[in-house]
Amino acid sequence: MAVLTGKVAVVTGGSSGIGLAIARAFRDEGATVFITGRRKETLDSAIAELGENVTAVVCDSAVPAELDALYETVREQAGHVDVVVANAGIGIEAALGGVTEEQVDALFATNVKGPIFTVQKALPLLRSGASIIVIGSSAATRPPYGLEVYAATKAAVRNLVRGWAHSSRRYGFRVNVLSPGMVPTPGLLELVPEEVREQARHTIPLGRHGTPEEIAAAATFLASDASSYVNGSELAADGGAAQV
Ligand code: NDP
Repeated sequence: MAVLTGKVAVVTGGSSGIGLAIARAFRDEGATVFITGRRKETLDSAIAELGENVTAVVCDSAVPAELDALYETVREQAGHVDVVVANAGIGIEAALGGVTEEQVDALFATNVKGPIFTVQKALPLLRSGASIIVIGSSAATRPPYGLEVYAATKAAVRNLVRGWAHSSRRYGFRVNVLSPGMVPTPGLLELVPEEVREQARHTIPLGRHGTPEEIAAAATFLASDASSYVNGSELAADGGAAQV
């Protein structure tokens, strides 16, 4: 039996990589899914692949007014929300000596401000028992050289999630952070050169990178009622990379 039958899910950054795999998995489990991204053409190709029960909305998570418009569309088309995945995120390589103000602002705008308002603006639409999932990163625990600011944004959302768990009863939600390790996606391939990915692979206890589908499987668990008593926690899906 499909574990998300009848649920309405919003997946930000659902047009590529991990978000796309999550949207596909949720659809396969019976959910009605809304995906977002900034580029319409990428969303169009995602929708061409995902087909029915998935709606694409152009929305920059770093712009709260665009999130208002997103949830207005969700309200009109579905009436409520059961699952929110704050997945949209960017990586920028910028080590201490060279990082610029623009890079810091861009990283925090999408990776921290984005999840805050993605969750806040969903609150009026949440059905009791809703599951909020924020995508973190193993980098929050083991910041790689050159990705320190990115890692700081992911450490920030991990702490936000722990704090937001205090609001569970008030809003009727559970909230958890799902922290992938290195997963070859369009975003990662652009950010991390092959030799660095290969070096990193040797440090992973399972000896390999993850797949978007493996992260999506963990997200499906957190979205479903199978995790009904899991709240305020971090689920690492990193092959053990940040655990040893
Ligand atoms: P991709 O770059 O492949 O996909 C990112 C998605 O987010 C795209 O759909 C992109 O669409 C969208 N996006 C980016 N910025 C915004 C924004 N401001 N508003 C709305 N949508 C946005 O990345 P991944 O799939 O690799 O990453 C997904 C998440 O997983 C991120 O939060 C990332 O930090 C995290 N993560 C990834 C890891 C990996 O190894 N791949 C490891 C650990 C964590 P568009 O560009 O059109 O906006």
